Amino acid sequence: MKRASDKQLRVACPGCGAEVVWEARNKYRPFCSERCRLMDLGQWAAERYRVAGEPVEQEPADVAAGKDE
Ligand SMILES: [Zn+2]
Repeated sequence: MKRASDKQLRVACPGCGAEVVWEARNKYRPFCSERCRLMDLGQWAAERYRVAGEPVEQEPADVAAGKDE
C-alpha cells in the first residue's frame, strides 16, 4: 500500500518546527507561513546588525544609577 503523502517532501519549519510540505506553490518554504519567515529574517537582520555595529552590552540599571547619583 502506498500513501499519497509519501510523494511529498516534508521539512520542519525552522521557525516553529511545524511540518511543512515542500512544494512549489508554498512560497514560504521551508517555513510554514509568512510569519515564521519574517521572524527568521528579523533574527538574521538583528544578528547582522549586532555583528556589524559595536557590541551592545545593555545595562540600563547601571547607566541610570550612574546618572542619578
Ligand atoms: Zn513555522
